[in-house]
Amino acid sequence: MADARLIDGTAVARDIMNRTGEKAADFEKRTGAKPCLATVLVGEDPASVTYVRMKRNRCAKFGIESRHVPLPDTITTEELVGAITELSNDPSVHGILLQHPVPAHIDERAAFDAISAEKDVDGVTSQSFAAMAFGFDGFASCTPAGIMRLLDAYDVDPRGKHAVVIGRSAILGKPMSMLLLARDATVTVCHSKTTDLPSHVRNADIVVAAVGKPEFVRGEWIKPGAVVIDAGYNEGNVGDVEFDAAATRAGLITPVPGGVGPTTIAVLLEQTVTAAFRQQQIPAEA
Ligand code: NAP
Repeated sequence: MADARLIDGTAVARDIMNRTGEKAADFEKRTGAKPCLATVLVGEDPASVTYVRMKRNRCAKFGIESRHVPLPDTITTEELVGAITELSNDPSVHGILLQHPVPAHIDERAAFDAISAEKDVDGVTSQSFAAMAFGFDGFASCTPAGIMRLLDAYDVDPRGKHAVVIGRSAILGKPMSMLLLARDATVTVCHSKTTDLPSHVRNADIVVAAVGKPEFVRGEWIKPGAVVIDAGYNEGNVGDVEFDAAATRAGLITPVPGGVGPTTIAVLLEQTVTAAFRQQQIPAEA
């Protein structure tokens, strides 16, 4: 079989960000202020520092203000919840991103849920999760929402397809499965206790790998012609899928880097600008 077509996440993200930049400029023209994203970082984990820097650079490039809130890793859950609640109550902040993972002693769920739903532009609160699950209006978790944008951009309609999501984290695997289900896919969610993972993957029309283990999904498991979405990012620019072997069988495949990653940030920016318009009660269609 011929090699798979590459899904160009950078190009899809560029389109989203260009439109977002135009909307951010319109917001500033109407209100005199830029849309504002608060980035909360607990501790100095090097990967998290890099991710926050990338997000803030993108904000600056597309006309969004970012207000950085660095906090020491000695902070308690109560103190972190207090800091996030302050941002939730601050009318000059439109979106809040709590970079995760947070240190192990912190109750991450309590911290996420201190973000008010209308500012939850990273889609991490229990309320946003429920909205995703029930199909209510709300902000989606950015990585799964970005993956849906990739599927749409490449005319992959999940309806009636068998989608296998490997991973069930609250920010990736679970919301991914909800979004695919909402689009009428038949969804199988696999995790560390799944028996015979290869047999599930072999039946998948769409595979989403969200495991966090380099090249964990073997190329030989991929059904010929399947759509392979690699959400994984491991040291050395390696995804969760054995890319070279998978690409000889898949119909469409995301590269790492340049696949899922760029759309995650693009959706974060897009949702920040949407949040700003909603909080000012201005219709976003300008
Ligand atoms: P996570 O919280 O560590 O979750 C990993 C999931 O993989 C868990 O549900 C775990 O199952 C499952 N798993 C572990 N070993 C497995 C096995 N042997 N067989 C099947 N499933 C197994 O990770 P995450 O935050 O979801 O992230 C996953 C990957 O996506 C990472 O590489 C991360 O860097 C990447 N990521 C990328 C972006 C982006 O913007 N591109 C954003 C977020 C994450 P259990 O639940 O049973 O433990």
